[in-house]
Order: sequence, then C-alpha cells, then structure tokens
Amino acid sequence: METRTILKKLRSTVQRPTGGGEIDLVWDGAFIRLEFNCSCLSALPFCKGACCRQRSGYAVELEEDELEKFEHKEHPHRPGVQILRTKENGLDCIYLDGKTSMCTVHRDKPRMCQQWHCSPGGEKQDEKILRRDAGWLLMPMRREEAELVQINLGGK
Ligand code: SF4
Ligand code: SF4
Repeated sequence: METRTILKKLRSTVQRPTGGGEIDLVWDGAFIRLEFNCSCLSALPFCKGACCRQRSGYAVELEEDELEKFEHKEHPHRPGVQILRTKENGLDCIYLDGKTSMCTVHRDKPRMCQQWHCSPGGEKQDEKILRRDAGWLLMPMRREEAELVQINLGGK
C-alpha cells in the first residue's frame, strides 16, 4: 500500500534561479521529512545549508589530490582518512558562510560535496550528483499525528 503522502507543497515560495523544482513536506509512513527536489540554491531559504552545518556523524572525505586545496584533519574513527575541518563548534564546515548559508568555495568545492544532494530527486538534471539521501527527517510519526500536522499547516 502506498503510504507516501505529501502533507504540504511549499514550492510556490521557491525562487527558481536554476530552473525550478519542488519542496514538499512528506509523510512516508513512519517519519515526516522535507524533500528538496530542486536546486540547492532554491532550497537555501528553507534548508539554510543544513548539509554543511550541524554535521554530527557526517564528514566530507577528501581525496589525495584535494588535500593541498582544503583545510583538513584526520577522521576521528578511521585512521588515514582525511576530512574537511570544521569551525570551532566542531560541527559547521569551515567553508560555510554562517550568515548566508552559502559555500565560500562553491565553484571548486570538494568532489564529495559536488556529488551530494540531500533529496531523492534533487537537481535531477545534474549528472554530477551521484549520492542522494531521502531528505531531512523531522520526527517519527504515526498517520494520525501526520494528519494533525497537515491540518495545522493547511496542507495540500
Ligand atoms: S543538499 Fe540539501 S540541505 Fe544541502 S544545500 Fe542542498 S538542499 Fe540544502
Ligand atoms: S565545502 Fe562547501 S559544500 Fe562542502 S560541506 Fe563545506 S560549505 Fe558545504
């Protein structure tokens, strides 16, 4: 049985500098999540660059030829693996502009960043994106609770 339900479409508020897309609040049967099926630039007002900040448990790994270009440190649990340095809070990427949520090395960012989008259909047309996630999970939720959220948001 199909349980994926779009609780609210947020795309009408998306700026579309790179060709449009959609932002949906989705209930998948167990969790509510935000799907940014659009360019990162369009998603920024909503996501605030969440993939680049508060990255506990997630690290950008660098390849050998990237080590000269980017500030790095050794992975805390995987000896020999080099990862991007974080700011003093130990979470935000060192290259994130905290005010604008923009990447300050965007034009030449690490390969792992170039290959990443946080949502399944995000930037579909970009062939460089090889790693996709399912969007940002907000909380575990039963259907009745999800429907309440939908009502409160004036969903659909
Ligand atoms: S990958 Fe996701 S969280 Fe990161 S900037 Fe793009 S839309 Fe935002
Ligand atoms: S280099 Fe840029 S895209 Fe990669 S994590 Fe840092 S701020 Fe984000």
